[in-house]
Amino acid sequence: MKGIVIKSTGSWYSVRLANKELIEARIKGKFRLKGIKSTNPIAVGDVVTLKEEEDGTAVINAIDKRKNYIIRKSVNLSKRSHILAANVDQAILVVTLSQPKTYTEFIDRFLVSAESYHIPTIIVFNKIDIYSDEEKEELAFLKYCYENVGYQCLTVSATEQTNIDSIKEVMKGKVSVISGHSGVGKTTLLNTIEPTLDLKTSEISEMHLQGKHTTTFAEMFELSFGGYLIDTPGIKAFGLIDFKKEELSHYFLEMRELLNDCHFNNCVHINEPKCAVKNALENDEIPAFRYNNYVSIYNGDDDENYRGLGY
Ligand code: ZN
Repeated sequence: MKGIVIKSTGSWYSVRLANKELIEARIKGKFRLKGIKSTNPIAVGDVVTLKEEEDGTAVINAIDKRKNYIIRKSVNLSKRSHILAANVDQAILVVTLSQPKTYTEFIDRFLVSAESYHIPTIIVFNKIDIYSDEEKEELAFLKYCYENVGYQCLTVSATEQTNIDSIKEVMKGKVSVISGHSGVGKTTLLNTIEPTLDLKTSEISEMHLQGKHTTTFAEMFELSFGGYLIDTPGIKAFGLIDFKKEELSHYFLEMRELLNDCHFNNCVHINEPKCAVKNALENDEIPAFRYNNYVSIYNGDDDENYRGLGY
């Protein structure tokens, strides 16, 4: 029989079967997956084949090929990564322009990661009820820019329950991971979307986890209106997958379209002449903040912080 892993505690996995029944399962023997040095062989979201044992538990025999997966880079010397979740349809990035402000560099670093994992992102601007006139203008500008790049943007207020249906609409029938740094109101938002979830992750416990090298396991929740939500306690952003920094512009969607037009085919769009990206920047076709964030990520500024849990 087959099922989907919705929770893992290290040695046991809760697997939801096609008939919606839950079964506790474990792995027998060694499980090795090609190309990934990970501390956990099976993650939440994995589709597995299992066999029921006499005591009512089950043994996992095989794991289906993953559509994608997200990892947390190791923070110690073992260089092994922890797979947070597999087979993710979309990421929902919760941001806010007030109390506390989310900087576009945080947004763009997240988008680059998500693009590198081939996971589409929806940007949710929360707390719109408390924005000043200036912040409202900034919201309109950022929404325009990100929508132009191709990202869906939603504007909501979790506390005022404004536009909550728009989030439900995009989550319906999909497997979503939800992210955002401390204070953006992620937990309030999730509890508004699905009050029965009663999420254990509080923003306080997230802050508690900061800097600790604890192994955190994601959990997958079934949504009453259809779909799944993967919550990853203590993780505000996931790590960048390994790629050469020369490829960074592939993950800035508006730049990717221009790459063939640069004069040099190994152009990294910083000092090269006849660069299509810099041309587009000069013609206001690429917003300056996006380009500046590109340069900052390219130069590895704050990389250390980003790869760890330090945000
Ligand atoms: Zn270029």
